[in-house]
Amino acid sequence: MAASSPDSGARAQQVRGACPHDCPDTCALVTTVQDGIAIRVQGNPAHAATAGVLCNKVSHYPERTYHPERLLQPLRRVGPKGSGRFEPVAWDTALDDIAARLQAIAARDPQAILPYSYCGTMGLVQGESIAARFFHRLGASLLDRTICASAGAEALTQTLGGKVGMKVEFFAEAKLILVWGSNSIASNLHFWRLAQEAKRHGAKLVCIDPRRSETAEKCHEHVQLLPGTDAALALALMHELVANDWLDHDYIARHTLGFEALRERALRWTPERAAAVCGVPAQQIRDLARDYGTTRPAAIRLNYGMQRVHGGGNAVRAVACLPALTGAWRHRAGGVLLSSGGFYPADRAALQRPDLLAGRQPRTINMVQVGDALLHAGSEQFGPRIDAVVVYNSNPVAVAPESGRVVRGFAREDLFTVVIEQFRTDTADYADYLLPATTQLEHWDIHASYGHTDVLLNRPAIAPLGEARPNTQVFRELAARMGFEGPLFRESDESLCRLAFGGQVDFDLLLQQGFASLDVPEAPFADGGFPTASGRCEFFSERLARQGVDGLPDHVPNYETPGSSAQYPLAMISPPARNFLNSSFVNVRSLRDIEGEPILEIHADDAAARGIRDAQVVRVFNDRGEYVCKARVSRRARPGVVNGLGIWWRKFGLAGTNVNQLTSQKLTDMGRAPVFYDCLVEVRPA
Ligand code: SF4
Repeated sequence: MAASSPDSGARAQQVRGACPHDCPDTCALVTTVQDGIAIRVQGNPAHAATAGVLCNKVSHYPERTYHPERLLQPLRRVGPKGSGRFEPVAWDTALDDIAARLQAIAARDPQAILPYSYCGTMGLVQGESIAARFFHRLGASLLDRTICASAGAEALTQTLGGKVGMKVEFFAEAKLILVWGSNSIASNLHFWRLAQEAKRHGAKLVCIDPRRSETAEKCHEHVQLLPGTDAALALALMHELVANDWLDHDYIARHTLGFEALRERALRWTPERAAAVCGVPAQQIRDLARDYGTTRPAAIRLNYGMQRVHGGGNAVRAVACLPALTGAWRHRAGGVLLSSGGFYPADRAALQRPDLLAGRQPRTINMVQVGDALLHAGSEQFGPRIDAVVVYNSNPVAVAPESGRVVRGFAREDLFTVVIEQFRTDTADYADYLLPATTQLEHWDIHASYGHTDVLLNRPAIAPLGEARPNTQVFRELAARMGFEGPLFRESDESLCRLAFGGQVDFDLLLQQGFASLDVPEAPFADGGFPTASGRCEFFSERLARQGVDGLPDHVPNYETPGSSAQYPLAMISPPARNFLNSSFVNVRSLRDIEGEPILEIHADDAAARGIRDAQVVRVFNDRGEYVCKARVSRRARPGVVNGLGIWWRKFGLAGTNVNQLTSQKLTDMGRAPVFYDCLVEVRPA
């Protein structure tokens, strides 16, 4: 609810909202508005998970919202594809033409139309509500939205029964915290605050990450393993838990499935064997196992970095087994958290209406492989060539892997491309029509979180800038032009917000305070009750075995194993630069200035072997392409591994490329997800 602010002048109002970005923290915002202008965006002090604090990125939200390059009117392409040359056009003209073009393609085959969207907003309404209804009614190709989290999500589902885990607030009470595959200071700041609290009360913090990140530096210990070897480490920890009997036999007997088989598997993973795979000392693995096996309560904060390799699903499965072996779940400060998203009773079917497919089964395109898909000529197996793509809440030209092919796909002159955006991103440059979208300060939305267990409501704080429109409005108007009848295509954003959780969440409370907590037990699996078919933590998954794959977690080597190629001897990971969030915020000048230029962190030994000096411009290359950036000779990189910080917009890069020029379109073992961190390269002075 908007309320007068006591400290910002008589006409100032404070409006409660939610951070829309793809970050587990899902902060509650308070926007101060004066004379219709948002002058400040702060964290809501009343929301415990936010605790009144925002990250540096979103603290700059007014700068982003009133950015001089905000798209404020519809544009139509006048130059060649990718040139970024447009002319202004009236909304009605743009929408009439878009509807006519889509209708003509749909008359041949609606599957030739591809919606492409992801988590540019995490909001359930501006994300996928009217848009999904529109594309379902149309019968367009379905999009497999896998680009970030689906390997880990599938792994959690196969092990714990869903995207469930510890409640984040209780990390503050843990005595040992493994920060696994996460640079929490950069990408999970509010968890880091809790980890610091635990540290002050005597907890030991261990970071497990190929990069010596800001977080790794601040932990008591850093296990700097090679990319794609997390499952081997987890199995060796299990080996030690079994060998030393640091097991909770009662918990295992009552609340797990497949212990004997897992035990046998783990006993094959001695610390020495894992040490050779992971590239860390065997003694460090032994010590870590002792800490984990003998400290109560022990908590693990996983993040998505570790699952961006061939065996990413198996790795998450292996780590997710650990707390059930030691009975860590018995304590509210014990267990594991990768995502809490599965606790939310969101009614996505009501929002997205898959029933509008009316029995049709369009083909599904994996968004990770959009480069290949756009370049496919069409075939009986693939279906029709993609003739139109409608992009919203995403910037695939910058974020999708193997961007050389993505660019070639979007550059097709015969591809009709509509982009709904706030800024002229790399993808926007390839649009035939570029439609201006509202930001979070300008529209309604409702949010679940994957880092805590509260629902947040976002109310518009200011009127839409210029001619910008919410995504929902754009698809409502397209639906009307295409003759899609019925109230479900006219439903208001506020009504959609109410629909998202139905009676499961008190909407009046959301209107009143901006957030409402789900009723999740403090220690959700203290007495078992996992949401698997068996009700147990499934070390062995019958479901996986029935699919003909290994029912137990195992180490699945990278497609591009570190050290396996003389031509490309360096493994590259591409974690986010601290001041960017995926490709969001790269165009915010003050944040880009902090980051400076696109950077490749390289260890001094690897730099010296190639005659590379600090700050020198280098070529990073493999068979997929070449990326030009500046070398930073740094202890943040371990020998044999380079860190290409992302995700820069290509147009801000040194040679119009970014790190995804090098990444591949291969998929993970589970969840059909990308393998961004499974990538071999060589580096030379430019
Ligand atoms: S990006 Fe994350 S930490 Fe920053 S304000 Fe949004 S939810 Fe909070």
